[in-house]
Amino acid sequence: MSYVGTVAARRFDAQITSNFARFHQRDDIFCRAWWDPSIRSPDTESFFKASRDEATARRGEGFQQRDFALRNASWAVSDDYANRNFDPHDLREGYFDPLAQTRPLADEQEKFPDSHTAAAHIKAVAKLFGADLVGITLLDRRFLYEASVDARTMEAKPNAVPEFITHVIILACEMPLELVQMYPSATAGAATGLGYSREVHVCRLLSQYVRNLGYEAIASINDTALNVPLAIKAGLGEYGRNQTLITFQFGPRIRLAKVFTNLPLACDQPIAFGVHETCQTCTRCSRACPPKALPFGDPQEGALSRSNIRGVIKWTSDAEKCFGYWAKMRADCAICIRVCPYNRDFSKFPSKLIRFLLRTRLRSLGLWLSDRLRSGVRRRPSVWWRRIESSAGSRERESR
Ligand code: SF4
Ligand code: SF4
Repeated sequence: MSYVGTVAARRFDAQITSNFARFHQRDDIFCRAWWDPSIRSPDTESFFKASRDEATARRGEGFQQRDFALRNASWAVSDDYANRNFDPHDLREGYFDPLAQTRPLADEQEKFPDSHTAAAHIKAVAKLFGADLVGITLLDRRFLYEASVDARTMEAKPNAVPEFITHVIILACEMPLELVQMYPSATAGAATGLGYSREVHVCRLLSQYVRNLGYEAIASINDTALNVPLAIKAGLGEYGRNQTLITFQFGPRIRLAKVFTNLPLACDQPIAFGVHETCQTCTRCSRACPPKALPFGDPQEGALSRSNIRGVIKWTSDAEKCFGYWAKMRADCAICIRVCPYNRDFSKFPSKLIRFLLRTRLRSLGLWLSDRLRSGVRRRPSVWWRRIESSAGSRERESR
């Protein structure tokens, strides 16, 4: 792996300008779909309803009953947490509010010989609990939401992370490649739901573990702070034109969660492995985006709507166009992840070669090779269903 701690850290800091302002969670496009009449529509309401309740065939391959059944089931754990304290406490855990702690903090604190030992220990436990990647950074309060959201009224409410919280443990869970290759479809939506449900599981377990060691821990999914900049600072990957964190191990195919803590931990450094330079020439995500919500050209400072953060020089999407497309389709879209040349199985030699080429002057060759291998081409859900049925059938026959 190419670790360029100082260079990558400098690049990150240089992107933040004097116009920077902390982001209000109420301006997130998913929140606006509830309170902003310029976003809320029959389509957005049908989108949210379909995400939870729909289990009937609608149109075409990838949108049959079994596809919706798979997708909606994949969200069940995340949904259960989101709903468990809505009545009577008005909390949406994992979306607007951290996951509630249900057991007391241990009275005594476990002592580690130093912060490096503590960090290695916490990373090992996080992986045992199911995280695929773990990074640690100091809590940069610029990326805490300026205000959170009241789940019932959709009004702003204080986003209080205590001053004694010093560190953030960032957790990444891989989304299955074969599901991501089927975007757009309800079948592929199971990749996102599985990611959320796994994050809730890992985050809840790790935060409980840290509290059992006698340190405070706040388990957070999409609530409380912006995940991507904290994950960049924690050395998990680089920012891509498609607005995602692109990791060395799984490319953009991950979901992020975090645990805020006061346990003293050694921090990781930002990394660079050629993503920024590749994105400057690639543009496959922008070309493939159906509503043309992704930019071409260099990173720019400037917000396209209130759903973009201000004062950061970066590639910025038109969130209104993007979510409008999701709402019309009644399903989430991640075409920009599917087509990315970093979205591949890096256990295979050709993928390792492509990733290597993408960080050299032979970048164009890497992009050409990725296209030749047809890596970003959409896979058919009907073929995937047949394949998993037949492989399950062969396993059963073998076991007889
Ligand atoms: S998720 Fe879909 S609509 Fe949104 S930016 Fe990506 S490709 Fe475009
Ligand atoms: S598709 Fe290309 S431009 Fe878009 S994020 Fe991936 S590497 Fe960057």
